[in-house]
Amino acid sequence: MTEPIRLSEHVYALPIEADLMLGRGVLNLALILDAQAGATLIDTGTPGQLPAIEAALGELGLKITDIRRVVVTHHDLDHIGSLEAVVAASGAEVLTSEAEVPYVQDGVRAQKMPPADRVDELMAQFPPEVREMVKNMPAVHVPVTRTLRDNEVLDIAGGVRVVFTPGHTVGHLSLYVQQEGVLITGDAMSSEGGRLGGPSGQATPDMPQAMKSVQKLAQLPAQKVLTYHGGVVDQDAALQLARVAGEGNI
Ligand SMILES: [Zn+2]
Repeated sequence: MTEPIRLSEHVYALPIEADLMLGRGVLNLALILDAQAGATLIDTGTPGQLPAIEAALGELGLKITDIRRVVVTHHDLDHIGSLEAVVAASGAEVLTSEAEVPYVQDGVRAQKMPPADRVDELMAQFPPEVREMVKNMPAVHVPVTRTLRDNEVLDIAGGVRVVFTPGHTVGHLSLYVQQEGVLITGDAMSSEGGRLGGPSGQATPDMPQAMKSVQKLAQLPAQKVLTYHGGVVDQDAALQLARVAGEGNI
């Protein structure tokens, strides 16, 4: 397994290997530790990843029961696949934006998934096993215990700002750990080998809105950025944010 990466005093990346739609990859969950507020996990990987999450926490001397809350950036299955298992094992609160609640709590089929009876027609380029998986995509019913507002500051690690970043999904949110200059983007942005990029074109239905969200993130004086697919960006983070936001204007 991959070791947790410390980004700042309170923030860690938890890289976890997963089988994704287009092959095996690494997902970068985030963990914010706070002596008073307890541990906050951001996103939960694909279904069946509770053991991998427990192993990552174990590397830091933590147990799953130390997780007090889970912040869900958005409802794509590689982010909420193990949410139910994490909550069952930890009793953690679940926080997300109002617009994501139907998909996380009420079993509404994921925004970007075609109806089951049109999968073969609309996803013809995918292998049969992927189409089967999409047809049988599980409905998620995890109660959201708190809905977050845009710009709200959570009393964790000296203040964690909620930044709504719609486009990749309707209610996608990012988090900014203010005192440490750490930006956790979920899928609002991507990265590869330390180079920051915009949201995945293939997986982002509203790209104009998503680029507006990137421009919003570029206003933050971030020193480090963590993207879910791609991991840590720690060189010239603010400059890279400005570059990607500028590319959206062309
Ligand atoms: Zn996503």
